[in-house]
Amino acid sequence: MIRLSKSTIGEAEKKAVLGVLDREYLGMGREVEEFENMLARFFGRPVACVNSGTAALHLALQAIGVGLGDEVLVQSLTFIATFQAISATGAKPVPCEVDPATITIDLKDTEKRLTDKTRAIMPVHYASGMGALNEIYAFAKANGLSVIEDAAHAFGSLYNGHKTGSFGEIACFSFDGIKNITCSEGGAIVTDDAAVLQKVRDARLLGVERDTEKRFAGQRSWEFDAKEQGWRYHMSNIMAAIGCAQLKQFPHITQIRKAIATRYVEMLNGIDGIEPLQLDYRNIVPHIFVIKVKKRNRDALRSFLIENNIECGIHYYPNHMLTKYKTSYILPATEQAYREILSLPCHLDLTNKDQDYVISKIKEFFHA
Ligand SMILES: *Cc1c(COP(=O)(O)O)cnc(C)c1O
Repeated sequence: MIRLSKSTIGEAEKKAVLGVLDREYLGMGREVEEFENMLARFFGRPVACVNSGTAALHLALQAIGVGLGDEVLVQSLTFIATFQAISATGAKPVPCEVDPATITIDLKDTEKRLTDKTRAIMPVHYASGMGALNEIYAFAKANGLSVIEDAAHAFGSLYNGHKTGSFGEIACFSFDGIKNITCSEGGAIVTDDAAVLQKVRDARLLGVERDTEKRFAGQRSWEFDAKEQGWRYHMSNIMAAIGCAQLKQFPHITQIRKAIATRYVEMLNGIDGIEPLQLDYRNIVPHIFVIKVKKRNRDALRSFLIENNIECGIHYYPNHMLTKYKTSYILPATEQAYREILSLPCHLDLTNKDQDYVISKIKEFFHA
């Protein structure tokens, strides 16, 4: 089976984990501090690490004060994590349409969904593209909203020449097993807002004030105060050690991921019945490679590829179609996009030969 996605772990990651195991300090300590420092240099901004991308989104929302009674605008077509993170705060995720060309949030639709309860907008950098991010920030400013970017797909990608997370209000990343870099599981919040960052740092350690500083010094807080709801969301040294090893290889990871996507685009070009997303692979580091399959052929192509031992995926089942998040209004562009999207194998161990095989099978399906 040619896999859709997978972790790629080498000697560096194994050695890093063994180092932590040998030192027998597994919780949050010096490796987490080191990983945060490496990430802060990468983004040129301060970073707080947590144990998942979902936790990053949840804490970012909590830190800006989003909660019960508030609404957050978000595209329906995203990983359920985006929605669950919003509803975890007590706020209501308000499902919005996507621009079919990029599958990023459609600002014309968000206009319609604004109410006096709207507090924030959460653009999702689908397949590592950032859509109309400048316009999203302008829309947020004009309407007094906060922007929290779900940048889980977009680690290392550039927007107008700047890395996602290096600008803007708050960006959240995921380091789960198959993202652009992994910690096994993990996440990060990146922001210039010192107050938000301090809230996140405390909230990830059960609300214990300034516990982060203690742990980085190898100590614990025995007497402390807590004023806010906290969670057990901190990152462990084992996770961070893997993350440090991965981040050191990021130039290589970038090159391979870009090459895979560029090759797909070139070799699938001109096949009648499929369309790539409108993304510029010179500037993005693709986490997933998505095509749109026209003329209601998606499920047939998917079955054909699976029969030929090629795993593929559908990112994602729209959230407004779930019981928990169903809407009273319809989202036709989202449902149309959902019927067309298909994710093709994209990971570091995908060889040119594997990719040639995937492409040949797609061509065979379309008699191209
Ligand atoms: C992976 C992902 C998340 C959540 O990250 P986890 O680390 O898996 O919790 C959130 N949003 C999107 C779009 C993702 O792909």
